[in-house]
Amino acid sequence: MNPTEFPTGSSMFSFLEEIWPYCRSITGNGVRSTLQAIKQHLPDLRIHEFPSGSSALDWTIPDEWNISRASVSTLSGEVLIDVAANNLHIVGYSVPFNGIVSRVELLEHIHTLKDQPDVIPYVTSYYKKRWGFCVPHRDLVRFSDEYYHVQIDSRLEPGSLSIGEWVLPGTSSREILFSTYCCHPSMANDQLSGIGLAVFLACWLREQPERRYTYRFLFLPEMIGSATYLEHHREWLKEKVIAAFNLTCVGDEHTWSYLPSRSGGTLSDKAVQHLLDFYTQESQHYTWNDRGSDESMFCAPGIDIPMVSLMRSKYGTFDAYHTSADRLGETVTAKGLQESFDMYLRLLTALDQNGYPITKILGEPQLGKRGLYPDLSIKGSTDGVKQLLNVLSYCDGQHDLFDIGNKARVNVEEVLALMELFVKHDLVEICDEPSKK
Ligand code: ZN
Repeated sequence: MNPTEFPTGSSMFSFLEEIWPYCRSITGNGVRSTLQAIKQHLPDLRIHEFPSGSSALDWTIPDEWNISRASVSTLSGEVLIDVAANNLHIVGYSVPFNGIVSRVELLEHIHTLKDQPDVIPYVTSYYKKRWGFCVPHRDLVRFSDEYYHVQIDSRLEPGSLSIGEWVLPGTSSREILFSTYCCHPSMANDQLSGIGLAVFLACWLREQPERRYTYRFLFLPEMIGSATYLEHHREWLKEKVIAAFNLTCVGDEHTWSYLPSRSGGTLSDKAVQHLLDFYTQESQHYTWNDRGSDESMFCAPGIDIPMVSLMRSKYGTFDAYHTSADRLGETVTAKGLQESFDMYLRLLTALDQNGYPITKILGEPQLGKRGLYPDLSIKGSTDGVKQLLNVLSYCDGQHDLFDIGNKARVNVEEVLALMELFVKHDLVEICDEPSKK
């Protein structure tokens, strides 16, 4: 595979605009609509339904939640909150309710962020039955009447949890896994950006004439979805997956950030660290203790899928996080999406071609007779040769391409280019596994 110009930033952005309005939660039709929109790009996407009440590791799939409308009005009919205007207005998994409530009672069900008075907070209550609304703190002054009409037309009943899965076979059955979650309502960076990147990476991979590894993309409700998937497929994933990535918060233009796997030191960790080292000016490195997403399931003891997150602004660290301020065009831009796409393309291109080169020559090879050494030796003329020899010197069957790049201080794309040259001149052989010492 070769990275190509693949103009995706604006196409990804348009796709995110399309799926923006769906009222997603961990179950229900918002997730299904999102998966159907993904299927327009990936027609082979398989949508699996797991019934409410089924086991998902230590969890149980809850009842399915759907909502058609919800509002709070004055008794004279003035609508003060309407979920049709913004789906963050309703607390996720609110139970149905229709009645007149006092101001005091209503305020017990209203959530705001005092510190960010202009935004609507994102609030859910998946496992405790309640109802509630979310509004900007500054809007509280509008609730000056004694009584209000509250109407929540929701349904909370046995149904199913939906997971989208797309697999692209390679020549090897070993896999690279991408997972992203699709359970948040309308928020851009912490939600839609990961879906957009996953879809367009999958589209790009599908167009490549060849690839070595099998690629698996999962679109699932965060935590309960990964637990559900792992309940059924963990043995397969444990055996096959060599690298895994949780795609989230990849749409802004801020500093890159990295959250490692639980054990650290996996191929996923090594590849991401190399990219950050060689392709970014600065980056933020978090620890496993800073996690907060599906890696908690995938990397849990006994499961240990080598999952890491390569993000821009990490979830939980930016002001707009989990609020109505996390909007397309504000926290997420076409440029940010394109940059993430380019970085991930670099990552998976290097991973797909990774291996353990081993020299076929005893001693340092004579490059001159292969036309690889300048025939006129003058100060500075052999700088490129030095780099070439440094890379070659680590081709001992024990170092993979990322290790070699790290040791020779050469980025992985240049290492790949040199490997092509070495193979052409019969200097090295690239093995799938480290050679026996
Ligand atoms: Zn979130």
